[in-house]
Amino acid sequence: MAQLRFQALKNLNERPKIHVESTPPNISKVFGEYVFGMEEMRATLAPAVFKKVSNAIRNHEKIDETTADAVASAAKSWAIGKGATHFTHWFQPMTGGTAEKHDSFFDALSGIEKFKGSELVQQEPDASSFPSGGIRSTFEARGYTAWDPTSPMFLYGKTLSIPTIFVSYTGETLDTKSPLLKALKAVDLSATKVCQLFDKEVQHVVASLGAEQEYFVVDKALFNARPDLVMAGRTVFGHAPARGQQLEDHYFGTIPSRVYDFMRDFEIESWKLGIPVRTRHNEVAPSQFEVAPLFEEVNVANDHNQLMMDVMSRVGEKHNLKILFHEKPFAGLNGSGKHNNWSLITDTGVNLYAPTSSARDNLLFLTFFVTTIKAVHEHADLLRASIANAANDFRLGANEAPPAIMSVFIGSQMTAVLDELEKKGNVKIEKGDNMYMKLGIDQIPEIILDATDRNRTSPFAFTGNKFEFRAVGGSDNCGTPMTALNLIVADQLDKFHDSVTKEIAKGTEKRLAIVNVLRKYIKESKDVRFEGDGYSEEWVKEAAKRGLGNVKNMPRAVDAYLSKKSLDLFERHSIFSHKEVEARNEIKLESYIKKVQIEARVIGDLAINHIIPTAIAYQNKLISNANGLKGLGVDNKAVVDTIKEISEHIEGIKSGVRKMVDERKRINKITDTHKRAYAYCDDIKDTFFEKIRDAVDKLELVVDDEDWPLVKYREMLFLR
Ligand code: ADP
Ligand code: MG
Repeated sequence: MAQLRFQALKNLNERPKIHVESTPPNISKVFGEYVFGMEEMRATLAPAVFKKVSNAIRNHEKIDETTADAVASAAKSWAIGKGATHFTHWFQPMTGGTAEKHDSFFDALSGIEKFKGSELVQQEPDASSFPSGGIRSTFEARGYTAWDPTSPMFLYGKTLSIPTIFVSYTGETLDTKSPLLKALKAVDLSATKVCQLFDKEVQHVVASLGAEQEYFVVDKALFNARPDLVMAGRTVFGHAPARGQQLEDHYFGTIPSRVYDFMRDFEIESWKLGIPVRTRHNEVAPSQFEVAPLFEEVNVANDHNQLMMDVMSRVGEKHNLKILFHEKPFAGLNGSGKHNNWSLITDTGVNLYAPTSSARDNLLFLTFFVTTIKAVHEHADLLRASIANAANDFRLGANEAPPAIMSVFIGSQMTAVLDELEKKGNVKIEKGDNMYMKLGIDQIPEIILDATDRNRTSPFAFTGNKFEFRAVGGSDNCGTPMTALNLIVADQLDKFHDSVTKEIAKGTEKRLAIVNVLRKYIKESKDVRFEGDGYSEEWVKEAAKRGLGNVKNMPRAVDAYLSKKSLDLFERHSIFSHKEVEARNEIKLESYIKKVQIEARVIGDLAINHIIPTAIAYQNKLISNANGLKGLGVDNKAVVDTIKEISEHIEGIKSGVRKMVDERKRINKITDTHKRAYAYCDDIKDTFFEKIRDAVDKLELVVDDEDWPLVKYREMLFLR
């Protein structure tokens, strides 16, 4: 029974060391080597064509056929020059991860390599195997991918990869990228309009994202010896190691050499692909790490994050390592998030969330700062929905996890500023007064330079010149939360602009009109601000008193997409139609159900076929021992007690698994996807998973280590 485990441990110890390519002396020499970006386009396209392309990218416009032909031809030559044989449309279906279908450049008819503009612009992958939540049967059977020129093509292996959106033939979105692009356009329009109240020079506002990726690293042989990791991406059983994260010695400690080699290797690969990987360090839990790139425009940053996860997995293979992005692979240890650092930056180079030394500019900063808080307050449920997936439920809202309450942390100094603004807004401002001084806005730059004011327990925190959306899960596609965030901010900015314009029309001076609306927002959104310990029990109570949502699981969280408020919001900015939202929720719930189903099967299989036989075999040994002792007239009470204890756990596991199987049979007959998802959540996951696990983990402590079939936490988590 324990053979696999010990074989894996043996493999691990006997394996030769992996050779690592040494870090190139100059990153800038290799950076972007495999990217067909603006520079390459400028160099290879006729100036007039290049101008057309860059304008189209900036203004979110369509690229005409002749231009597309020119780009395709240039990209083909560039890629073939670097050894490419194929091209692919690279897209992000709602199943998570990325998808691709490769076509050869070689055209057998003409005997030469070809790549037409039409092939660059649009393709029809066989979409029938991607989830569409019934859209395709309702609308049209085909789906197609369409070029996203705002994210550069790249060479991956021998394939020219073209970032694309994935939509049904009738235009319904089937991926995470197309709604994101729409939301980014919305926030560009709305933010630009608001900026122009201050500065007419601003023509565009770009949203930026820096995604800090947390992950665990496990030896490949040990990973393969854990069917739960292989099948579900997380351990469904396993007793916490004696030395967990209590010592907190891992955080910012020395990186184990095997992992360090892996990191250097994947960083080089990432740089070549233009991914600006920058920071690496250990995380809180043993064998947990983090990588952070430099921030980029949201769409590109998200493509890079998706690509980087793929690069990490591939390079990990080379190092005999498995990279776990799952939100909660190990019970009792920290989960993995993907903190989304986000800001809005104008085409004149101003970060709208960075306070400056000019009081006048700080009114602009406050406008975006306060409007964002107000947006989060208005649509906290949608933000919560946007980070919901089956795995994140174990990281937020579960037993040992922080609550799933959306709140905003802004630090004591910004709190003081907002309090002051709220209060002092009552002061009468006379002609000739320095309004900024009277309102206290002129002090902002001096007082918020203290960067130590941090709160690691907040799901949405202001960190000096950006917001950090920390509730996003480690395995997730940032496209979904970024769509929600940019959209709600766009919407609030529109409302802000409307209100200010109305006040001005009534004769209020512009700056005062702005301050008046901000004061109103500060008051209205106060409840969403929280500076205390977000993981505490008091906060759960306090938040309930304030009427803030605390939706504990994914099936209920995504309901927020279907509220009238959300549907109106989507419609106002042409993000989704009602039908699309329904279809997308359907896809998400189906995927949720599948995940819980798989975990339930893995739990049942491991418990019945691995754990119980092991426990019985060990129990038999104890029984002979007890009989032997009895024969000798020696007290065997301790052994008999252990035998009884094992019996109890075996019984608990058996009946738990049996009932769980019966429940699944019942639930599978429920036709309504919503109700089925709720039932899988409440009556399968919440009812049985912990209970069965508890009994198995207790057995792990009793059964002889030599016999235990599953690789133990301590064996997996302390890589050197
Ligand atoms: P911190 O220590 O505050 O988390 P870091 O410098 O480590 O800050 O940055 C974390 C992430 O935030 C990085 O990916 C970084 O590029 C990104 N970031 C920094 N400034 C911005 C910004 N203005 N907009 C979006 N992301 C940003
Ligand atoms: Mg950070």
